[in-house]
Amino acid sequence: MIWIDYERCNNCGKCLSCPQGVFEEIDGEIVVANPTRCNYCFYCVQVCEGKAIVVEEI
Ligand code: SF4
Ligand code: SF4
Repeated sequence: MIWIDYERCNNCGKCLSCPQGVFEEIDGEIVVANPTRCNYCFYCVQVCEGKAIVVEEI
């Protein structure tokens, strides 16, 4: 499961380039819209400016 720690997120939007389309921008906020599409490539973790993306493999 993947989620965003909003204490750290600066809304940079870089995670929107996730190849699986997991993130979406809704009303100006980045959200984990499609978590089941995640294939745990960790791309978003690497590009996230705020180190705000938390990945827990289940
Ligand atoms: S780990 Fe990969 S597939 Fe999962 S949300 Fe991040 S960029 Fe997308
Ligand atoms: S890349 Fe990280 S800091 Fe930027 S919007 Fe996504 S979760 Fe927030």
